[in-house]
Amino acid sequence: MTSREARKDGGMQSYKMLIGGERLDAEGGATFETENPFSGAPWALVPRAGVADVDKAVAAARTAFNNPDWRKISASARGALLHRLGDLIAREAERLAQIETRDNGKLITEMRGQLKYIPQWYYYFGGLADKIEGRVIPIDKPGMFNFTREEPLGVVAAITPWNSPLMLATWKLAPALAAGNTIVWKPSEFSSASALELAPLFEEAGFPPGVVNILTGFGADIGERLVSHPDVAKVAFTGGDRTGQSVYELAARSIKPVTLELGGKSANIVFGDALIDNAVKGTISGIFAATGQTCIAGSRALVHRSIHDEFVDKLVSLGKTARMGDPALDTTQVGPITTRPQRAKVLDYIGIAKNEGAQCVLGGAAATRPECGNGWFVEPTIFTGVKADMRIAQEEVFGPVLSVITFDDADEAVAIANGTQYGLAAGVWTQNIGTALTMSERLEAGTIWVNTYRAVSYMSPFGGYKRSGIGRESGLNAIREYLQEKSVWIDMIGEVANPFVQR
Ligand code: NDP
Repeated sequence: MTSREARKDGGMQSYKMLIGGERLDAEGGATFETENPFSGAPWALVPRAGVADVDKAVAAARTAFNNPDWRKISASARGALLHRLGDLIAREAERLAQIETRDNGKLITEMRGQLKYIPQWYYYFGGLADKIEGRVIPIDKPGMFNFTREEPLGVVAAITPWNSPLMLATWKLAPALAAGNTIVWKPSEFSSASALELAPLFEEAGFPPGVVNILTGFGADIGERLVSHPDVAKVAFTGGDRTGQSVYELAARSIKPVTLELGGKSANIVFGDALIDNAVKGTISGIFAATGQTCIAGSRALVHRSIHDEFVDKLVSLGKTARMGDPALDTTQVGPITTRPQRAKVLDYIGIAKNEGAQCVLGGAAATRPECGNGWFVEPTIFTGVKADMRIAQEEVFGPVLSVITFDDADEAVAIANGTQYGLAAGVWTQNIGTALTMSERLEAGTIWVNTYRAVSYMSPFGGYKRSGIGRESGLNAIREYLQEKSVWIDMIGEVANPFVQR
């Protein structure tokens, strides 16, 4: 049953999971409501999977992994399936964008941009599928032939968060499928609808049943079983660092490889010679775009003392102009917080910053503007006078809250920027090429932007230093995260060597 055929229960849309090519309810029929962050009202019922459903989905993925319809097709044919999927997502882009805006509260303008771009990951990794090559090793043992094969791992558990549900799943699915793995994808309980809307497209693209399975429900119910299942070969996780740590610990018990994309406390560093108006716009986009709910949020602005006052005045003036409201309107610039608990967490951090003595120069409260209705909004918020060791400058808020910290020279900027447990990204604003290059070397982060912020591409590696994660997504090498190398030895002479001595 496709989503468009989905029945309506008392006005609520009702979804089913995708397991082994079938659209299924959870065992026992449990469901949960998913809510619209702008209206605050539930709008759809989603299956709440249990451990039995995990076992079913992993078994379907394992069967599909051994199915010759998937395992034995040519690499080019596998690439063509990914290409077709990209085309179908492009065809359905507007519908998927509308669903995400309703379920997640992301701006429709941002979703249209993301949906336009997501197919590129399937085209890029689809193109790589038939360029996965082994090597012939010029081996040092006479009469021996040695070559390598690059093989898929098996069943990959893809666990994704709510903040950019389709994009972050794509970063896992595209390389994992291109490498020949099969997938059990568990989206966040707060953003399952878009995943389930995508389900029929895998079938239409021609993927055999069970190659992609979508399991919805609560991490607390099914996360442990999924991560530790003996038939899951790898876990690819994006989410908070505490959950990531427990996923890592659990995966270690069964010696599974993991990719972890975790949180951040990224610094936007503005030097005295920066083009101030550009730096102000970049800083605003780093923290208020996506309502600050991005792992790469530039949540600390490190500003050189010589330009601090001018910079803050301009920042506040621009921040004040942010149009809040219905994320489905083209004109809205800051939408709601995606989940009720997240809104409470953001407001808590605003309280913590005030108690720590930071000065609130913009926002600093829940948004009560009429255009915000009953939605879960927080005013775009800026704190000045923040010290580098305050909690507001150390911990990830994941909301529209910026901390401004002053610095006097590059050494101090580097020490402050690197002085957190995270290392996902950093921005540098300067007109001096030497400063730009030196900073890009000294900053401990997986992505450095100079005179820009928030640029990502399917071609460029993305991932974290330190507690921001393990492994890389996107870019050529990302496919290696989903492959294992096998070494094959052939004796060309046929002489049996002394069995008691290693060759
Ligand atoms: P969580 O860590 O709470 O959840 C991420 C995913 O893990 C969800 O699908 C969640 O399911 C699932 N999960 C929860 N508990 C377990 C468990 N015990 N075992 C296995 N899976 C589990 O993150 P959020 O969804 O709250 O997303 C926000 C976080 O993600 C932020 O902290 C942000 O920094 C980070 N993030 C990092 C990115 C990066 O690339 N570095 C990108 C985007 C976000 P459920 O929803 O049902 O609890």
